[in-house]
Amino acid sequence: MEKQPMYEGKAKRVYKTDVDGELLVYFKDDATAFNGEKKGTIESKGVLNNKISTFFFNLLSEHGIPHHFISMPSPREMLVKSLEILPVEVVVRNIAAGSLAKRIGWEEGTKLPQTVLEMYYKNDDLGDPLINNYHIKMMGLATEEQVKIMEEYALKINEVLTNYLKTKKLELIDFKLEFGVHKGEVLLGDEISPDTCRFWDSETGEKMDKDRFRRDLGNVEEAYKEVLYRLTGEKA
Ligand code: UDP
Repeated sequence: MEKQPMYEGKAKRVYKTDVDGELLVYFKDDATAFNGEKKGTIESKGVLNNKISTFFFNLLSEHGIPHHFISMPSPREMLVKSLEILPVEVVVRNIAAGSLAKRIGWEEGTKLPQTVLEMYYKNDDLGDPLINNYHIKMMGLATEEQVKIMEEYALKINEVLTNYLKTKKLELIDFKLEFGVHKGEVLLGDEISPDTCRFWDSETGEKMDKDRFRRDLGNVEEAYKEVLYRLTGEKA
């Protein structure tokens, strides 16, 4: 009999384990965009995102960023520390794209004169609205100390990922992070993958991320595979 998930999200299912404080995340091939309005599947996406995220979590370990990743027991499964998710999505941007390009009227691809950090309220019913630190404090979504830690980690992660990806001829345009609390400590959670980041090929500018799905550009699976290959040398 299939084990019942404790929680099922758009791209992942979360299961309890026998160990207190540890959960099993199962990566699905389901893809959604525009707050669930567009639905589809990307073949092998679960495996690719699990492997890519595993690679990034290990890279972040080398740089002292605490995260929830423990191990990858199978190609679609990730063992993680259980988190009480802070309902804030932290977005880091280096180059104008997506909603920022639209909001401020800058052409997509414009290099930002400085890195931009944004906070969104994680709430599907409201469509994850953009908020600021005053809103976070007012709504009690996270403490000031937790916000400070999330900001500090997000900027450090940006530095680590940007520098690493450059060596693989990938430009880190922007990405989204989620954090949670485990035994009183703020840890990076969720995933780091082409679902949650924008990667452009450094030479051709080709999009190698979920925008291929969002914008019907084709070769979605191929792009995810290429990201895994450039990072790990593994041919999926
Ligand atoms: N992002 C995400 N989940 C979301 C919204 C955004 O992972 O619910 C990521 C997205 O892939 C991109 C970055 O956060 O790397 C910034 O996204 P943006 O605000 O431009 O929104 P979008 O154009 O994706 O709607």
